[in-house]
Amino acid sequence: MFGRKAAEKLDDAAAALHRIGGGTGDAIANKVIAPIRRRVDTDCTRCSRGKCKEHN
Ligand SMILES: [Zn+2]
Repeated sequence: MFGRKAAEKLDDAAAALHRIGGGTGDAIANKVIAPIRRRVDTDCTRCSRGKCKEHN
């Protein structure tokens, strides 16, 4: 139901929340984005775009 474009948006949103930091951004990312992201059968799109700060 979710395609790669949706995965990219979710990964970007999660990364933006991580940048906010302070625990709040991470909490929102984990609570709101992560459950949706897990339903998208696509590897981290930020890694494939060379933009990922979390996996390298
Ligand atoms: Zn990644």
